[in-house]
Amino acid sequence: MSIRWRLTLFNALAIGTILVLLGVFLFTALSSTLPSNVESTVQDRALEAARSIGAGKKLGPKEVERLTLNGVYVIVRDGQGRVLARTVNLVPRNNGQTDTVWRRTLVSGNPTGGEANLSPEPPDYVYAVPVRPPGGEARVVEAGKSYESAREALNVFGVALAAGLLAALLLAVVGAYFLARAALSPVEAVVDSARRITEGDLSKRLPVANGRDEIGRLTRTINRLLSRLESAFARREETLARQRSFTADASHELRTPLTSISGYARMLDEWGLEDPEAARKAVAAIKRESERMKSLVEELLILARGDEGVPLRRSRQSLDALAGEAVRGAREAAGNGAGKPSVGYQSSGGLVEGYFDRDRIRQVADIFLDNAVKYTPAGGEVLVSAREEAGWAVLEVSDTGVGIPKEQLPLIFERFYRADTARATEGAGLGLSIARQIVEAHGGVVEARSEPGKGSTFALKMPTNSTSGE
Ligand code: ADP
Repeated sequence: MSIRWRLTLFNALAIGTILVLLGVFLFTALSSTLPSNVESTVQDRALEAARSIGAGKKLGPKEVERLTLNGVYVIVRDGQGRVLARTVNLVPRNNGQTDTVWRRTLVSGNPTGGEANLSPEPPDYVYAVPVRPPGGEARVVEAGKSYESAREALNVFGVALAAGLLAALLLAVVGAYFLARAALSPVEAVVDSARRITEGDLSKRLPVANGRDEIGRLTRTINRLLSRLESAFARREETLARQRSFTADASHELRTPLTSISGYARMLDEWGLEDPEAARKAVAAIKRESERMKSLVEELLILARGDEGVPLRRSRQSLDALAGEAVRGAREAAGNGAGKPSVGYQSSGGLVEGYFDRDRIRQVADIFLDNAVKYTPAGGEVLVSAREEAGWAVLEVSDTGVGIPKEQLPLIFERFYRADTARATEGAGLGLSIARQIVEAHGGVVEARSEPGKGSTFALKMPTNSTSGE
């Protein structure tokens, strides 16, 4: 059963019960009041008539009229119960000889009340008072009145009460139904709108009619939930899209060396025996391409492990010592070869400490240095420095190389992205994305500044005292 009907039914039951109880109470109260009214009127009149007669007065027409108001009749009997006089408004069904009220009065000598069947609409209430007029015989003055008028009034009241209660009950049920409908109509609106929200369109929100009531609060909560769902879906979409393009790029990058390897292998197969020179060339190319593939696969593995969130092995380390080592490594790799820029280390003079995974951060320094050397022509300069700055341990690699066009600068940390200036050099465009992944896992940031034709500066920043990322 719907809430609307349950509310209606509950209201109808509650109001109905109250109305019925009220009706029963009113009816009972009135059904005892009306007959007792009849009785007290009759008693008053009987006593009044008895007083007059007892005083030896004769009842005049005016007095009789007053005594017989509201259908009260008066009878005067002698000591044997015979009717001496009666008011004209009583058309007796019998002479009342069988009635017991006056008899009891005569026997007891006290006023007595009780039921009698004197009037044409019995039962009546009769009250008999003994009197003895001065110098006269004992008599009984009786006053009486039929209960009929009281019963009729009670019947009319009962019918009116029942009709009134029924009408009130109907009104209450209809009112409760419309009230419940009005109160629940915002819920209908919410259900309607919610039905229209699908997975593909989470941008819609439910209408909030009144933000302060219960339904308003519920709607606002659902809207907040929808916002969270929307951003979760958007993030999922973004991740899926990134994964798709990553897989496509990776396959593409792997296919290039594989195509050359299979080409040279075919060449080796066809000419290798007859032409030793061609064979040497093919083997060298195959070696070169497989090396390239190996380093590409290694880089992909590093990224995949980073995505999985392989834990860091962090400890308190000196960043300036690490920078010095990286510089020595880069010089060794470059050898004394001409055509390479010079690599220098600029000490900050103080100790620069951080809480990091030494091997991983060394990897980042190597990536920055490799790039700096790669994209800086002979005669150029590469400078590495480490310093502490506003709670950050900073390692910076700057060069006087080709630089990066301004509009491409925000993209170079993306996977497989290579700026136009790098076309002539080898690389898959994964180095910087690995660097960023490692630094962000440490709770740090990577930054790049560049001026095309003049040089670039790459920096990694890590919080000095933080243990975030663990
Ligand atoms: P790559 O293997 O191409 O070097 P990276 O992810 O290391 O891949 O770098 C992405 C791109 O950023 C490079 O292709 C290059 O265009 C640009 N880049 C990185 N470092 C430098 C630098 N020191 N000078 C100029 N360009 C750079």
